[in-house]
Amino acid sequence: MMEWLFLLLPVAAASGWWLARRGPRHTCAESEREPVFFRGLNYLLNEQPDKAIDVFLKLAEVDSETVETHLALGALFRRRGEVDRAIRIHQNLVARQSLGDAQRGFALYELGRDYMLAGLFDRAESLFKELVERQLLQARALRALIEIYQAEKEWPRCLETAEALQRISDEPLRTEIAQYHCELAEQCLRDGKADRARSHLLDAQSVDPDCIRASLVQARMELRAGDVETAALLYRRVAQRGPRYLPAMLPGLMECWQRLGRESVTAELRALFEQHPSPPLMLRLCDAIEAERGVAAAREFLVRYLSGHADLSGAERLLALRRRVQQPPSAEDEVLLEVIARQLAAQPGYQCDHCGFEARELHWQCPSCKRWGSIKTVEPEPIAAAAVLRQRQIA
Ligand SMILES: [Zn+2]
Repeated sequence: MMEWLFLLLPVAAASGWWLARRGPRHTCAESEREPVFFRGLNYLLNEQPDKAIDVFLKLAEVDSETVETHLALGALFRRRGEVDRAIRIHQNLVARQSLGDAQRGFALYELGRDYMLAGLFDRAESLFKELVERQLLQARALRALIEIYQAEKEWPRCLETAEALQRISDEPLRTEIAQYHCELAEQCLRDGKADRARSHLLDAQSVDPDCIRASLVQARMELRAGDVETAALLYRRVAQRGPRYLPAMLPGLMECWQRLGRESVTAELRALFEQHPSPPLMLRLCDAIEAERGVAAAREFLVRYLSGHADLSGAERLLALRRRVQQPPSAEDEVLLEVIARQLAAQPGYQCDHCGFEARELHWQCPSCKRWGSIKTVEPEPIAAAAVLRQRQIA
């Protein structure tokens, strides 16, 4: 019951509007309809939605001015996930010849959203296309079409629809358009069409010069084609512009350094780490220090790092290094390592900056809020120098 009371707010608003419209110019016939309207509301409050729908649909038959009420009611059913009921209401509205263009536009749009929720993408697509052709709610219809094409991974259609939307609205869509080009580039690479892929990547970078993904895909292409210098340059650019994408580019960059025969990978990693002290870089640098100067130097590096970063992966590595040199191994370290390993396994690694969705791998489009480029690595919390000092004093 309480849920209905909250959900009925839009209907209540619409009914207020409905009554206000009738206030000063009541006729006998109209005043007779008011009890019918409230009978419908009563059915809703008594959890009898089908009876309520019957009453409201009959009301629409006698008075087309209740369209807004029906739109509100349909949207309410859809929000509750009762898509069949929403479709019934909206289909009934669309069938009315008496609707004006604006009202028909809203009814068609809402019916399209119902079809989308029901997974009937073909029907939804044709309704939204009809709206675009008839220049009714064009921007909304184009946005809905983009949602459909994204769900179906129809990237060429996403691209042309986003460009059409950009032409008729002020909506900045450079991020989305660049990502569609990247999707198309990756598709071309899978099909062995390197030239087409390169052209899409250039388009992505010209639409959105900050597009990290375009640089990453291009770097991978150049590395495969043997242009290691260019690949290394592109990976470095990614590190500069998007340090939170380091896990995605670090293996490629390391391969570039090895193939270029860089004298000291440790020095290269250290230079990068000083700019972006992130966990994946810390672990690689720790490996390199250990290989070059031994376990003691690696442990010293980790202690310095952990005094500034609350990073479990660093703590795990420090314990693992200590266990390696301790004979016999400490039972305490074994337990701690087990606890930390479990904690690390439960950590998502990636998170959406927009909606907070957590993921174990990098998604270019957030599966939850559908934003592009919003999922990034989770960075460890920095430890304030003062707090470290205080802890040392206490110790
Ligand atoms: Zn999100």
